[in-house]
Amino acid sequence: MSESEMRYFSTRGGSETLSFEDAVLTGLAPNGGLYIPTHIPSLPADWQTKWASLSFPELSREILSLFIPTSVIPSKDLSQIINTAYSTFRSEKTTPLRQTGEKEYVLELWHGPTWAFKDVALQFLGELFRYFLERRNGKLEKEGKEEREELTVVGATSGDTGSAAIYGLRSKPSITIFILYPDGRISPIQEAQMATVPDENVYCVAVQDSDFDTCQSIVKTLFSDKEFNSTHRLGAINSINWARILAQIVYYFSAYFQLPESARAEGAKVQFSVPTGNFGDILAGWFAKRLGLPMDHLVVATNENDILDRFFRTGRYEAGEEVSSSSQAPETAAVNGSSDGQQATPSSGSSVKSTHSPAMDILLSSNFERLLYYLALDTLEIPSGDAEQDRARAQEHLNGWMAELKKNGKVNLGERIKEAAGRDFWSERVSDGQTLEEIRKYYQLPKYGPYVVDPHTAVGLAATERSQKKAPNSYWVTLSTAHPAKFSSAVELALSAKQFPEFNFRETVLPEELKKLEQLEKRVHKINGEAGVRELIERVKKGEKVVPGEGKGSI
Ligand SMILES: *Cc1c(COP(=O)(O)O)cnc(C)c1O
Repeated sequence: MSESEMRYFSTRGGSETLSFEDAVLTGLAPNGGLYIPTHIPSLPADWQTKWASLSFPELSREILSLFIPTSVIPSKDLSQIINTAYSTFRSEKTTPLRQTGEKEYVLELWHGPTWAFKDVALQFLGELFRYFLERRNGKLEKEGKEEREELTVVGATSGDTGSAAIYGLRSKPSITIFILYPDGRISPIQEAQMATVPDENVYCVAVQDSDFDTCQSIVKTLFSDKEFNSTHRLGAINSINWARILAQIVYYFSAYFQLPESARAEGAKVQFSVPTGNFGDILAGWFAKRLGLPMDHLVVATNENDILDRFFRTGRYEAGEEVSSSSQAPETAAVNGSSDGQQATPSSGSSVKSTHSPAMDILLSSNFERLLYYLALDTLEIPSGDAEQDRARAQEHLNGWMAELKKNGKVNLGERIKEAAGRDFWSERVSDGQTLEEIRKYYQLPKYGPYVVDPHTAVGLAATERSQKKAPNSYWVTLSTAHPAKFSSAVELALSAKQFPEFNFRETVLPEELKKLEQLEKRVHKINGEAGVRELIERVKKGEKVVPGEGKGSI
């Protein structure tokens, strides 16, 4: 394999390749595809010994530099970006591994500023944006030019992504961030996390009399308004951005090195179970495997929005029957759909179901397209051996599938693809009832407990349990994607006072840092409709000081 300088190309075709910088700043390819690397790099021959005692930031630098040429970011700068990004984490190990059974572990990914796993990627992406913009503007200044590059990030959220994005971008020069959410329809703790951030470049926009779909469609309209978009240089920070996937590869390696030595011995098997929505987190795991991390399988753990589970069982990718209607659309799907037109609209009239694990309530998983590309490539009837030719053929397959998906809301990928996918993935669907049951179980865990887990993590744990018979004697790592305090309603429902009178959420689960938010001032811009949002962005970008309505509230 040639190890020429790494570039990025679109899953949907075209022979054009982009630098890492352009791929990150562009996000979604103009042809609707997602950027992937021109080749999968090789690990250094001695990585198992050389990397074993590295800190998380050091490990991150080793892995990321395989994908980011030094001509794009010099090593010293990359180290600095990474160190700054992860200095905000509360745990010394950044993503610590916690033992929950004899050979069972939970990888806690929520020790960052917003207590959910999206911080791992968004703290890094924020620093990366700052670095690229500073460098571009420094160059303009040197050339004696007047103009400066600025980024206006606009996104809609129903909770998690919004706060992680705000914490990733707060106080970054040349970046302004507007996060839209339906007024009164997100949890108080989620609103407090966003609205108490005092930085001048952060705007929390509560859209009045709206639901999530309305916020999403406002963002979509702004992005597709060519003049508005280019005037303000709109930026999206959704999970289809390659830098987000890249940053997440690191914790799979980190988990591996935190396991006991016996897990790394010859013949030992390690399995990872991943609560999955948009397929970003688990795709990073797949890249880790592809790079050479010895893992046996990745378990796709879905909630009742189970399009992925059905794909891995049947080879058919389809939105499915109408399950229920919900006004609270998923932020994962929506942030993508709204800001970059990524989500195809299925014609079958299906809709997302609201579950106890809302961050995984999705109709279609946008990052799944990246896996589909590799499945197409790996199953080419007669590979030519010529990288570019094979790439073009895989892109052609993928384009056909995406077109069919867009047209009919479903696509049958067939046995070959299903089998190829089955080599790396198992899957499980976990119902709401089972999710609550799992939270109760871990609260009552003997020996390694009690352990209060959030509902997304509970989905992953249930999937682990069910998969165990497929590979006895394996080591199991379940990814924990949020702190239980972020999803208090499900946790309190599972551990109700009637059944667990001794359980006190405020005392034992809610961290001091989150309690303190109650005391802080909230800055929320209450806005009416698209025109209001447009006006706010225009006034802010003109340099006007727009004062938000302020007030205190309790969590
Ligand atoms: C976003 C999110 C997920 C889903 O991750 P994907 O990368 O979209 O699959 C799971 N759990 C929590 C808490 C999340 O915020």
